[in-house]
Amino acid sequence: MIQAIKTYRLQHKLEESFGFSQWHYDKRNALIVEIIDESGACGWGECYGPATVTQNAIDTFYAPLLMGWDPLRNEAAWNHCWRSSLDFAMKGPMMGAISGIDMALLDLKGKLLGVSASELMGGRVRDRVECYATGMYFRQQSEQQLLETILSEAADYVGQGYKALKIKVGKNMAFDKKLIEAMRRTFPDSRLMADSNHAYDLPEAIEIGHQLARYDYKWFEEPLSPSHPALFRQLADKVDVPIATGECEQTRFGFQELLSKGGVQIAQPDLAYCGGPTEAVKIRTVAASMGINTVAHCWGTQLNLASALHFLATTYVEPGRAEITEPLLERDLTCNPMRDEMYAVGLEIESGFAKVPVAPGLGVEPDRASMEQFCVQKTEKHHVGKNAPHADQRRKADREEVV
Ligand code: MG
Repeated sequence: MIQAIKTYRLQHKLEESFGFSQWHYDKRNALIVEIIDESGACGWGECYGPATVTQNAIDTFYAPLLMGWDPLRNEAAWNHCWRSSLDFAMKGPMMGAISGIDMALLDLKGKLLGVSASELMGGRVRDRVECYATGMYFRQQSEQQLLETILSEAADYVGQGYKALKIKVGKNMAFDKKLIEAMRRTFPDSRLMADSNHAYDLPEAIEIGHQLARYDYKWFEEPLSPSHPALFRQLADKVDVPIATGECEQTRFGFQELLSKGGVQIAQPDLAYCGGPTEAVKIRTVAASMGINTVAHCWGTQLNLASALHFLATTYVEPGRAEITEPLLERDLTCNPMRDEMYAVGLEIESGFAKVPVAPGLGVEPDRASMEQFCVQKTEKHHVGKNAPHADQRRKADREEVV
């Protein structure tokens, strides 16, 4: 029975800001969810999105709904949350809040049953997953300096063993084309990808798409705005580079609508935003039914990284053959001490490969003392009733029983 749901809003001020096509960031934020059952076991989750909003959504809306809930009924809990906010929150930060709850319940369920998250997601197909390096963001430098900074950062990742790298594009057309070419000339043997964070209109995306195809990039990520899903098919008809998108999309219903319009060849749900790990498995099934592979987007701390790792460990690559192209785990290598220094138990990543944890649950554990150092706001809800109310009366009863 769920006894308490706590949230921790974390923040770290960066010494140097980093940018992409839309903005420059000078802070890293995170929203961590902890769900505790009556045995004292706890599950951890993480939300992607505006942390103040998701924190409030969990604390004031979803946590009260789940007090006294059996944590083994995790997908029933998802449906309960979904139906309770269906009229106004089919997408958006409230779905980000559900995602963190879903992740924490999966972690807790694994711990209660003594099995890893990948066993709950269908079982491992592979015991380790190759990572690709995400970084090479824009800095406040002249374009010539920036080009050199990006190439030198990339060389560092290659030196660490990364065979696949994803750059940012979408600064301006001339710089983007120069960067795409320079990366390929400098790293002829690397698998390269490019991400515009929906920076281009269709004619620009076609031009950049041709450049990416010419230099053998493996995918073109978020070439177009999620506001115009019908354009992906037009782009795909004109360029020879695979199109990836989906980090702004949520739920199996959202992906069904997006992917059925055509043009997207790689679906990229973020497990801390798309509805959570259990929803990501459903999204993967929807995508697979259309012959589309799913490669999780991943941003944040080790809880989301571990979730994405378990997800990819259980991914059956469509259509399957003896020697498949293995899926890649996105590893953000930009500065974030909340990811790299805050975990008592973290993932084992060596030479660009992540080992899939076999410990119960997600297999990573935040260090509470370290987390306190980053925490700017905490919330907690406790179940105070002696007996869990019947599910049908839960919403009314929880309002009375929650303190
Ligand atoms: Mg992206």
